[in-house]
Amino acid sequence: MAILDRSASPEEINNVVEAWLDQHWDSEKRCAKGADSYDEKAWLTRVFEAGFCVPSWPTEWYGLGLSQKQSGIVEKAFAKRKAQGSARDRFHLGAITVFKVGSDELKRTMLSIMLTGPICCLLYSEPNAGSDLAGVRTKAVPDGDDYVITGQKIWTSNAQEAEYGMLLTRTDWDVPKHRGITFFLFPMKQDGVEVKPINQITGESEFNEVFITEARVPATYIIGSLNEGWTAFQTAIAYERLIMGQGITERRGKSKADSEPQLITLARKYEKYDDPVVRQKVAQALAYRELNGLNMQRAKQEIMTNGSSSLMSLGKLAMSRVQHGEAAIATDLLGNAALLDGDDYPDAANANFDAAKAYMNSIGGGTDQIQKNIIAERVLNLPKEPDLDRDVAFRDVKSS
Ligand SMILES: Cc1cc2nc3c(=O)[nH]c(=O)nc-3n(C[C@H](O)[C@H](O)[C@H](O)COP(=O)(O)OP(=O)(O)OC[C@H]3O[C@@H](n4cnc5c(N)ncnc54)[C@H](O)[C@@H]3O)c2cc1C
Repeated sequence: MAILDRSASPEEINNVVEAWLDQHWDSEKRCAKGADSYDEKAWLTRVFEAGFCVPSWPTEWYGLGLSQKQSGIVEKAFAKRKAQGSARDRFHLGAITVFKVGSDELKRTMLSIMLTGPICCLLYSEPNAGSDLAGVRTKAVPDGDDYVITGQKIWTSNAQEAEYGMLLTRTDWDVPKHRGITFFLFPMKQDGVEVKPINQITGESEFNEVFITEARVPATYIIGSLNEGWTAFQTAIAYERLIMGQGITERRGKSKADSEPQLITLARKYEKYDDPVVRQKVAQALAYRELNGLNMQRAKQEIMTNGSSSLMSLGKLAMSRVQHGEAAIATDLLGNAALLDGDDYPDAANANFDAAKAYMNSIGGGTDQIQKNIIAERVLNLPKEPDLDRDVAFRDVKSS
């Protein structure tokens, strides 16, 4: 275990992490020292054992008890050497959710597994439950120490690779829809789970249909409490929106090492850099992205203290506008060349990909319209939209 605690100064933290990386990480070969190639699981296990996966978590839960700011220093030292493994709480929704709302037993069994590897997919949407997610009909029935799960999920990103999924199920049909839901950490690699990829407009097949037929999950894998999954789920969705608000997808063709924004590079290349209208559009787009970045920093602070989700909705909505807006400007800059596509025309291929991919941010994690509803109701205190099913026992709710 690395020797660091909250009393350490920024310099001390940086020195300790750099020394640790010197000892363990081969920056040239980009793998653990002494290894022939990068073994993700082995490397993440090493980082986990040193407490660097999520340094801001308490030592009891595999962190170092550092502040967010101190954790940022650890993250920067890792990034400087292009070493993976720090800030795992940033992108691993399964790990964050288990940490925030899981029982101590679940944390003890699952956090080390989550932090050191498996992708955790999100088994929320169903053919008849998307925006109105509290209408899920996948059922979980108790059987001994397990629950038996039957139902269908759809649009499940990364379900093919996932070893676990966070699963929304119906456990009580005699109470209104929000009250009979149970949230599980669900093992994906078992009989009774069939994953079918869906082809996307971007050419990818990252999301899937998932058919679940009498698959099993231990009762100890409930996240939160029985029938109170909607509350636990609010934490997971707030973090998902936070991540999306920060821009889950980097623009294609843009390397993190590029110092110049891609729109400026394109403007130069297509000889529109001196056009005042283009300059204004690009400046507006970049200012908007910067503003959202600052807002998301505020959101991050807020979620750490009270788990509020309204700011996450604002950031996610803004990022959707950023991504659609930048893709449209890139297409304008290319002019007729944007009609081309394929490997021989990388600028056009990137612009087309970005234009299609922007829909991920405006639909996934709840559509733009739903974010606007949340902002209207929870931030602006406007009247709630009518919900005729809200107080009806779920068994009596009509479905199409
Ligand atoms: C790239 C991508 C990845 C995804 N990954 C996952 C995943 O990993 N796991 C998962 O569970 N789901 C995932 N989703 C699904 C996503 O969460 C749903 O598509 C989304 O919540 C919308 O649900 P729906 O498709 O059923 O649309 P619907 O709910 O049927 O909505 C259709 C349209 O009606 C509008 N609408 C609906 N209700 C209202 C309302 N009350 N007020 C105003 N407008 C309304 C919507 O905004 C939308 O435009 C993903 C989606 C995408 C695009």
